[in-house]
Amino acid sequence: MSRVYNFSAGPSAFPEPVLQQAQQEMLEWRDSGMSVMEMSHRGKHFLMIAEELESDLRALLAIPDNYKVLFLQGGASAQFSLIPQNILNGKAKACYIKTGAWSEKAIKDAMSYCDVVVSASSEDTKYTTIPEASTWVLDEQAAYLHYTSNETIHGVEFQETPDAKGLTLVSDMSSNILSRQIDVSRYGLIYAGTQKNMGPAGVTVVIVRDNLIGHASKTTPSVFNYESQANNGSMLNTPATYNWYLVGLVLKWLKTQGGVEAIEQRNIVKAAKLYQAIDQSALYHNPVELASRSRMNVPFILADASLDKPFLAAAEANGLFELKGHRSVGGMRASIYNAMPEAGVLALIDFMAEFERTH
Ligand SMILES: *Cc1c(COP(=O)(O)O)cnc(C)c1O
Repeated sequence: MSRVYNFSAGPSAFPEPVLQQAQQEMLEWRDSGMSVMEMSHRGKHFLMIAEELESDLRALLAIPDNYKVLFLQGGASAQFSLIPQNILNGKAKACYIKTGAWSEKAIKDAMSYCDVVVSASSEDTKYTTIPEASTWVLDEQAAYLHYTSNETIHGVEFQETPDAKGLTLVSDMSSNILSRQIDVSRYGLIYAGTQKNMGPAGVTVVIVRDNLIGHASKTTPSVFNYESQANNGSMLNTPATYNWYLVGLVLKWLKTQGGVEAIEQRNIVKAAKLYQAIDQSALYHNPVELASRSRMNVPFILADASLDKPFLAAAEANGLFELKGHRSVGGMRASIYNAMPEAGVLALIDFMAEFERTH
């Protein structure tokens, strides 16, 4: 067997011990006599898995008691529509910060439900910056302020929780949840698809303050109604049971790594080394302003685009996979989520230096 270093943006690399544990438990989970895949979601064994999943996530993020944690389907993309349906609460406007491809999509879907106020945009810098907070135009009539904490495609990340100036803060944390410490109490709602930093595709985590739920519009489908899902342990319909289990294993792995505080320190080191290698080279270039660079997704372009294909081919020959950049940005992108060991980043840096030397 020869497992490679997988730099995919999502679905993305798993911690290897998690895959091994899933393999060991494939035929029988603990003393249940069956695979997790075969369990009723109402049975006592699966309910144990569900309880541990929620309590581990609450512990890792220090989620206060007045927040509900939901495990839904439809991806983070479904939330683009479900957030306005659930929390507009009769208001006609919502504010959005536009910093890249994912916030663009969130805005587009929200426009079907309310007047979107684009409070700030970095489109004019081709999404290589985060707009200066002093320039944001916040509308106090808005139901909430939405931002994308890490733009997975453009490689732009907020380094701090923005000041929502009294508005309810909503964040799409799909690609950086659990990679850095956050104060959940500053948010009204946090959401994230699990396939970047938490496990496989197929689960969407929604962490929502309890006073925001119970106000969904009448046309909201009940499986997407935060209140009815909260009242039913996210089991109003059959949940993605095996995926919940896998997310739970990833959370337990993260606890063995020292939790979010410890993994954040490792993420800082990994990203700093990779950016330093890029900045010191004549061949590679990252266009994002220093203060807004993502620790999770590192896009870089080659000075000569005709080297892209040879770069990718040589990288694969060296066991370094999924480095092709998003088609809208071009070049390369290395996604270095929690599960990417520092050794993988160092192998990439060595390869890049060798490729530069020989080209
Ligand atoms: C991947 C991603 C999404 C979309 O997730 P889906 O599960 O495919 O809907 C949304 N927002 C961000 C920031 C992402 O990285």
